Amino acid sequence: MDKDKVLPESSKKDMILIPSLALNLLLLYPLFVGCKKWELLSWSRRAAAEAEAVASVSCSGHGRAYLDGLPVDRMPVCECNSCFGGPNCSEVIAGCPADVDSGDPLFLEPFWMQRAASSAVLIAGWHRMSYSFNDNSSISQELEKHIRKVHAIAKNAVTGRFIVFGAGSTQLLNAAVHALSMDNPSPPSAVVASVPFYPKLKVSYKQQTDFFSSMGYKFYGDASMSKNPSDVSMNAIEFVTSPNNPDGKLRKKVLRGESVRAIHDHAYYWPHFTGIPTPADEDIMIFTLSKLTGHAGTRFGWAVIKDEAVYRRMLTYSDESCYGVSRDTQVRALKLLKVVLEGEGRELFTFGYKTMKDRWEKLSHALSFSKRFSIQDIAPVYCSFFQGIRDPSPAFAWFKCEGEEDKDCYTVLRDAGIIGRRGTLFGAESCYVRLSLVTRQDDFELLLRRINKLVAEKGGFFMVK
Ligand code: PMP
Repeated sequence: MDKDKVLPESSKKDMILIPSLALNLLLLYPLFVGCKKWELLSWSRRAAAEAEAVASVSCSGHGRAYLDGLPVDRMPVCECNSCFGGPNCSEVIAGCPADVDSGDPLFLEPFWMQRAASSAVLIAGWHRMSYSFNDNSSISQELEKHIRKVHAIAKNAVTGRFIVFGAGSTQLLNAAVHALSMDNPSPPSAVVASVPFYPKLKVSYKQQTDFFSSMGYKFYGDASMSKNPSDVSMNAIEFVTSPNNPDGKLRKKVLRGESVRAIHDHAYYWPHFTGIPTPADEDIMIFTLSKLTGHAGTRFGWAVIKDEAVYRRMLTYSDESCYGVSRDTQVRALKLLKVVLEGEGRELFTFGYKTMKDRWEKLSHALSFSKRFSIQDIAPVYCSFFQGIRDPSPAFAWFKCEGEEDKDCYTVLRDAGIIGRRGTLFGAESCYVRLSLVTRQDDFELLLRRINKLVAEKGGFFMVK
């Protein structure tokens, strides 16, 4: 338009009106189209409305209502976070202990709440009712493709191999032991792991291998106790958990020998919990959605395997024990991985890393002047995902009571209102306790308050000169 030209009054009004009309239309367009789209929806509307109604129940930010929760008078009710109660979870339960025993990765809950729209899945009544997919397998190829993509962007594993799905990595750990022990002509194979090793209270490596113990394999305990770890002659299967649960250390296998095979449990080998120096490239690597996205309840894990015979045995194990992984679980996992892939993983990994680093720093600071209590040292590691050296952000603190008088560290903490997991369950001494840092924010804050109080009352301070 010619700037110098004088416009008549009516044209001036038009100039103001036209943009504001356009703006209104622009603002109304999504609503209009949204309504149209809503009208076009048929069978899914009711399910969507039901899901939104439950999601809208207010639980004061300290709880949630769920679609499958126990209703009261047909209404969904709040399930409160620990230490909160009342009909809408607004009441603080006085004297409630900070329960940091479980490794439930609920710290990622806010990430998914902020992505309610992109992460929701609606499952039709007729969704994949069959035992198998069209190719007769029990594995969604689309999900497998997305798993490979997630590893490629996280730069944490080489995946040009075979992939097997499991009902959580727990099932796959056992499938792998089973598959490897079949190579042993003189059973049982010795199953070992270095102390401190990961024990789920109910299903630990020890308990799993003891429980499922056949003639094929037996849990022997600490790998590092072997007389000559660099030349082991017996058939052995070593669990290598890296980063390790409970102490967050990046680990390598300890045993060497012709008949030694390793299973690498990489549940925590993601940028939230550790720097990723190089992509892992081991014979059997096990991962889980539980620690990647926090969806432990979805029960989904996968194994990346080099050897075809081992792959076939693990696949048979999964197919024979439960006809593979639930197809409903697979469709949900696919949706979640699509969200992970948005922005090349930056959103999830940055959120995860920042949250865990912040918690680690706060806990380290709280304990920094105490000589009676300590947590593990973790060196900063180069991370090829974040392209730089990054600070520690482990999933757990490996808490130690240093003093002779505090040998039963679990009891010391319990008396201070903190419930951790006893070090002895990890094959370690009783002066250690594992504290979970992957809890909800409420639980972490309570833990921090209790630790501050413990240090103030019994810390045994270093003298600051
Ligand atoms: N491995 C390690 C090291 C773990 O910490 C856990 C869970 N705490 C698992 C495996 C089991 O995970 P999932 O939920 O996939 O069975």
